[in-house]
Amino acid sequence: MNGDGTTGPDRAADREGDRPARADGPAPGSGPDAGRVPRRDHAVRAAVERGLLGPDHPVVALLDVTGVRASVAALHAAFEAVTAPGTPVLHAFAVKATPLVPVLRLLHERGIGAEVASPGELALAAAAGIPPGRTVLDSPAKTPAELREALALGVAVNADNPQELDRIDALVRSTDTSSPIGIRVNPQVGAGSIGALSTATATSKFGVALRDEGARAWIVRAYADRPWLTRLHAHSGSQGMPLPLMARGVAETYALAEEINRRVGRHQVDTVDIGGGLPVDFGSDATAPTYEQYARLLARAAPGLFDGRYGLVTEFGRSLLAKHGTVLARVEYTKSAGGRAVAVTHAGVQVATRTVYAPESWPLRIAAYDAKGHPKPGPDVVQDVAGPACFAGDLLAEGRPLPLLEQGDHVAALDTGAYCFAHHYAYNSLVRPGVYGFTPAGDAVRFAVVREPQTLAEIVTESGGAHAHALTGL
Ligand SMILES: *Cc1c(COP(=O)(O)O)cnc(C)c1O
Repeated sequence: MNGDGTTGPDRAADREGDRPARADGPAPGSGPDAGRVPRRDHAVRAAVERGLLGPDHPVVALLDVTGVRASVAALHAAFEAVTAPGTPVLHAFAVKATPLVPVLRLLHERGIGAEVASPGELALAAAAGIPPGRTVLDSPAKTPAELREALALGVAVNADNPQELDRIDALVRSTDTSSPIGIRVNPQVGAGSIGALSTATATSKFGVALRDEGARAWIVRAYADRPWLTRLHAHSGSQGMPLPLMARGVAETYALAEEINRRVGRHQVDTVDIGGGLPVDFGSDATAPTYEQYARLLARAAPGLFDGRYGLVTEFGRSLLAKHGTVLARVEYTKSAGGRAVAVTHAGVQVATRTVYAPESWPLRIAAYDAKGHPKPGPDVVQDVAGPACFAGDLLAEGRPLPLLEQGDHVAALDTGAYCFAHHYAYNSLVRPGVYGFTPAGDAVRFAVVREPQTLAEIVTESGGAHAHALTGL
């Protein structure tokens, strides 16, 4: 039931210009989608009433903790349903998707590990209490120091290329490590609809390009020469990748694991890391595709991968978090320009960088709320939702039909829980907004601080405030 009782979930869906309900969506009342819209509406109203959003803080980010837990449960269930009993499965969350320590801790408590790709991400995972044995290091540019630390800690490492493998060779000779070590391959199955996120193209910068001349033979030899290479890793892309293409990437990786084991004459590759990359539906409140659909597709594409002979690692990022985040911002002014209604809000390029710079690839749904945080009724008027930054392209949405926004209203950018508000862009020295997790508590909403809003003093400090005279004295 929806906060003020005037706008139910269906109505809210209309308001957001939703597509019709999907026939293959999860059953209503269960799964990660159950109750999403009323929970969000309630949290928005409570955030406004509580003053999380106020004169000093015109933009905040909200995380639906109930929804995150439901997505985690769906992920576990999907792979349990297709793996032989007793198969070791580590779901390692791709930290880059939502690099916030309390989020990593929430996931850890529900049995999710961490996939990290930088010293910073490794530090965040450690701060969340994720043990090295549940952490996987995948960066394409690991330094000798990073490799040494990962091997000393027992963090799993996937080597990206032959030069990196040389470095690991030297470290393995001189260190006693418990780290599972693998090689990342690029199955070169092709691109999805977003070039910048397509990791399995012929010329992708990631991994060993499997179809290149001599690559397969080199890989088999690499494993034959190194009995400690026990994993094989691929991550065939992210948003914009068709599922069948992703499944082909996994199937080809599995086939390579089988080939390596056959050629070396032992079950040396014991774990396949299938990466992440499940796309998110940014066009509706439905989770589509679901983990269940993907796991079933994989089990059909590579049945042998699930028969118990191989452990599995997954590295899902956006699909665990995106739909559970909301950026909520106040409408500061409204105006009309060239016949177009424009709402100037406090959410723009600093919290939705990809959307602002590549709107075709990253359209976000926008929901309109009134000054008190109640869903705004229609009729819809075509308008621009602009951000606060000083360049013309700082638009969250262009030409979008929405209830006419007025000064003091609020806008919510939906599905922003991954690769968005936690990836602040420091344009115009705009402060990083506070992030708050929420759960329903009877008729009320309970909030927890995930990240404090940044202060102006912090902005000055990170902008060289301690070195004000550094250049004049040079
Ligand atoms: C980014 C990335 C992921 C996660 O991708 P999502 O699209 O967020 O699921 C997983 N593995 C690797 C190696 C990555 O680079």
